[in-house]
Amino acid sequence: MKFKAFLFMLIIPLLWRSLPAQPRLPADSLLAHLQELSSDKYEGRRTQEAGNLLAGEYILQRFSSFTLKAFDSTYLQPFSFYSRWKKQGYNGRNIIGYVPGTEFPQQYIVLSAHYDHVGMREGAVYNGADDNASGTGALLEMARYFSRHPPRHSVIFAAFDAEEMGLRGADHFLEECPVLLENILLNINMDMISRNENRELYVVGADYTPFLRAPVEKLAQGCPINIRFGHEQPEPSRRDDWTMASDHGKFHQKNIPFLYFGVEDHADYHEPTDDYERIMPEFYTQAAEFILEALLYLDANWEKLTRR
Ligand SMILES: [Zn+2]
Repeated sequence: MKFKAFLFMLIIPLLWRSLPAQPRLPADSLLAHLQELSSDKYEGRRTQEAGNLLAGEYILQRFSSFTLKAFDSTYLQPFSFYSRWKKQGYNGRNIIGYVPGTEFPQQYIVLSAHYDHVGMREGAVYNGADDNASGTGALLEMARYFSRHPPRHSVIFAAFDAEEMGLRGADHFLEECPVLLENILLNINMDMISRNENRELYVVGADYTPFLRAPVEKLAQGCPINIRFGHEQPEPSRRDDWTMASDHGKFHQKNIPFLYFGVEDHADYHEPTDDYERIMPEFYTQAAEFILEALLYLDANWEKLTRR
């Protein structure tokens, strides 16, 4: 026994030193959000329907327990829109909270993920695990992280609704923005970040704002997943251009720099098989961690990067 205890004391410090840096976002919590929000209970989270409202409540409760600040004393930003395609009016709800910056409280980084999906068709639930329970889970854990480690610039956590109906939530947020648009430094948007056979995560937006590229490239070198640039302003065809593919497009239209993180479409994209069982847990947690690293770096170095 004594010898075993001695060995133990010898081995523990060795193990300790060889362990990689501890992740900032707990994997079990990330996965729990993703699994919960993509369960049948939420009925595919289609805007205005019961499952979507339930998902909204889930996010609201977390924002509240992390004691995020709210604009106008509520996290809820309701809005209405008319879909010409569906010939119908809809009511949506963005859920918005923020953590004030310690040095530049009047300057904002907007971290976003849409929480709506396409609902149910012919009895099948389109669970939208990758699209976009994955981004929503990462948004929640980053909100928890920043509530405990305040950033230098204020960070707004935006869970957008009605992305699937044409980026409607992001559009409303920017049209009725609780802060001046010129005080938004950057949008970081997460949409589909939990699976890719080649372990590739795309970063879109640095072509439009070139000073963002070098820091992301540098961080990518130490990242266990493959970080790829592309899907912006492609020549000669615009088929693969993701500039307007998700909510970041609305920020781009307002001339606000953006970085969008997401994977290539897969066979389960917008199919009832986009389920929790098909996501890649390790890839997902590493992708979320990388996005947080990028956000932390940009928050810490924004003035240096933008100095002329
Ligand atoms: Zn999506």
